[in-house]
Amino acid sequence: MEATTARSSAAKARRGGVKFILLHHGGCPAGGFHYRIDTDGCIHAELDDSERGQHPRSIAVVVDGDFDTAAPSGAQLDALRELLLKLKLRFPMAELGAHRQVRGGAETTCPGRRFPMKALAEWSRTGLVSERDAVLRRDFESQYSQI
Ligand SMILES: [Zn+2]
Repeated sequence: MEATTARSSAAKARRGGVKFILLHHGGCPAGGFHYRIDTDGCIHAELDDSERGQHPRSIAVVVDGDFDTAAPSGAQLDALRELLLKLKLRFPMAELGAHRQVRGGAETTCPGRRFPMKALAEWSRTGLVSERDAVLRRDFESQYSQI
């Protein structure tokens, strides 16, 4: 075991807010997911954002399917992008990551070898940020016109 348990009780509380949005696939052996995207591309909330999931400072999103053997569907990726936009508005500082990127995650391929993690990570730094800014601008303008 690489992780130490000395700080595990402190880690149960969400200190310092949400730092990562971590992606998983249905083949992930761990649990503690905040959101599940099913095979039809429907989003289900399983934990409240304030609750601790699999990792203390992360929101965990699982996409149903085994993406070591197949790629997610277009409907699943559309739903995922929609969810990530909502989460980015709620947690502006949160970075998108894969389960396999976290400490101790080296033994897992999660969210799967065929999951388009690189493309999504790229989008999260470009398209997602401009979509978030567009939403914020619309919100600001709608509030301003009411004053
Ligand atoms: Zn996982």
